Amino acid sequence: MSTRSISRICSQCNKYRDDEDFWGKSKICRDCRRENFNTQKRLRGKITAKMELAIRRGMLPPIGERMCEICGRQASHYHHPYRYSVTHALDVIPLCIPCHSKEHKQKKEKESAVSA
Ligand SMILES: [Zn+2]
Ligand SMILES: [Zn+2]
Ligand SMILES: [Zn+2]
Repeated sequence: MSTRSISRICSQCNKYRDDEDFWGKSKICRDCRRENFNTQKRLRGKITAKMELAIRRGMLPPIGERMCEICGRQASHYHHPYRYSVTHALDVIPLCIPCHSKEHKQKKEKESAVSA
């Protein structure tokens, strides 16, 4: 017989939840995860729209014309170094795929170091 804990508290909605409602060691429940995912998706849509508009208006060069700020190769994505929010939608730096994924990995490590 396994001695699983009966419930955990979700760090987002602060409700007692079954262990099954958590994904592995996640601190937030499945419902909150889904909600965060949808919020993130809506946010991404808004940010993308704002960036596309800026590109069309010539406020932001198309990514194809930019070089990666770290290694100087052809950039593939705009990265948001400050905050991924509508306000900072245009505070971006061009990065190539490898540098971009490296940036995100570093950011994650930094964040987990802070929360640890
Ligand atoms: Zn929750
Ligand atoms: Zn690069
Ligand atoms: Zn990024």
